[in-house]
Amino acid sequence: MIEKVRAHPSQNESLLFETSSPGKAGYQLPELDVPTVDPAEALGAQHVRREIGGFPEVSEVDAIRHFTRLSTWNYAIDLGLYPLGSCTMKYNPRVNEAVARTEGLMWIHPYQPDALSQGAFAIMAELERALAEITGMDAVTLQPAAGAHGELTGILMVRAALQAQGNPRKKVIVPDSAHGTNPASVRMAGYEVVNVASNDRGMLDAEALARMVDEDVAAIMITNPNTLGVFEEHISNVARILHSKGALVYMDGANMNALAGISRPGDYGIDLMHLNLHKTFSTPHGGGGPGSGPVAVKKELEPFLPLPRLQHAPSGWSWNYGRPQSIGRVRAFYGNFGVLVRALAYIMAHGGDGLRRATLDALLNANYLRKMLEPHYEIAYQAPSMHECVFSDRRQAANGVSTGAIAKRLIDYGFHPYTVSFPLIVPGALMIEPTETESKQELDLFVRALISIAQEAEENPELVLMAPYSTRTTKVDEVAAARKPILKWRG
Ligand SMILES: *Cc1c(COP(=O)(O)O)cnc(C)c1O
Repeated sequence: MIEKVRAHPSQNESLLFETSSPGKAGYQLPELDVPTVDPAEALGAQHVRREIGGFPEVSEVDAIRHFTRLSTWNYAIDLGLYPLGSCTMKYNPRVNEAVARTEGLMWIHPYQPDALSQGAFAIMAELERALAEITGMDAVTLQPAAGAHGELTGILMVRAALQAQGNPRKKVIVPDSAHGTNPASVRMAGYEVVNVASNDRGMLDAEALARMVDEDVAAIMITNPNTLGVFEEHISNVARILHSKGALVYMDGANMNALAGISRPGDYGIDLMHLNLHKTFSTPHGGGGPGSGPVAVKKELEPFLPLPRLQHAPSGWSWNYGRPQSIGRVRAFYGNFGVLVRALAYIMAHGGDGLRRATLDALLNANYLRKMLEPHYEIAYQAPSMHECVFSDRRQAANGVSTGAIAKRLIDYGFHPYTVSFPLIVPGALMIEPTETESKQELDLFVRALISIAQEAEENPELVLMAPYSTRTTKVDEVAAARKPILKWRG
């Protein structure tokens, strides 16, 4: 049994303000060899800062160690498995960083004249083409800055397309397994959200759906594979039902990691979808870094894509702003260009076969975890898993150990927790996505950790409930943290 250990001093970092000591400095400058001037006289009194008093005074090594130690408190994909389901936290090859930092690409300015931006245009055009091919769609916009932004862009296009036929309609159907951004995007686009329940295999029930679709339904927003990691077997049927009533099918493509190179949404009736380049196509994410949520559409929706569009003439690439049916601009400039460069580098380095292999590895890893953990944790749905698997804490909860407690204990074993209590349709969910970049050794360590925690939950639930022990902050009072948040440091 692990005893409660005191945190290592490096895990007890004080504020720089607390280590400050008058006269300490992180620099050395030579004696002044010019006359001293009064800053207020030289700069004007209004430019002299008065509030700088009390700023920490520390040495260079104090400052360096402070920030270096803080940086070690983060868990990162460079440290180990990051099994957050739904998020696709995979390792991103460093070479794509090098490509994105190519001098001519890194310093490019969005106001640079078209004639000097031909290389960037070519990169964007090539990426649009590649994403259209991977998804089986006809046209792509690279503008949206993230998945949720792509959703909003897509639903605004649905509205514009239906409006052009005379009636934008009122409702969008969203399955109960959807990511929370889906209903939010629907509302922001001015539609009413209609929920549809999944069946006992974690899939949409086509018959139940058929009863719901009427002339007021503008679209369905469907995630495939869905947030249970289950492929919607009836997806073509779903598309047929919606189309027969003049409605459109939007696919949340955040889980394209399970399909790329194998199955193309455009081939099974999807009208439009977004991709998360920062999940599937090699941009590090988490911590609020830039993302990109391109939207891919079928030909009929192309006139509604955001402005401007790339166009090619014998004289070269330029932007086309003359598109009267467009929903307009959704982002300043043309998207997060650096993310686009990484995505194209990743896609070209893999090629079609490489993408297919990466997808198969993602599926293999998820199903390996599922098989290894199934004897110890309750699988949520008896349907084949794709790139992630969802368990429930039912067996452990019988001893008072919830998914949240298991996740905290996992930190002591050196892993980032899986996704806790999501999707909402699985009570006490443990949602695990290993991604294709993990080796069998790493997966085995993770499996051993989770099996060990299952045993602890059985034999010594208290031990799990008090975890984590190895971190700077141990068990926190989550109720107090939510009810009485301290948002400001009081010295
Ligand atoms: C991550 C995710 C989103 C949202 O994407 P962001 O880029 O975070 O805005 C939407 N749907 C699903 C299924 C996701 O996994």
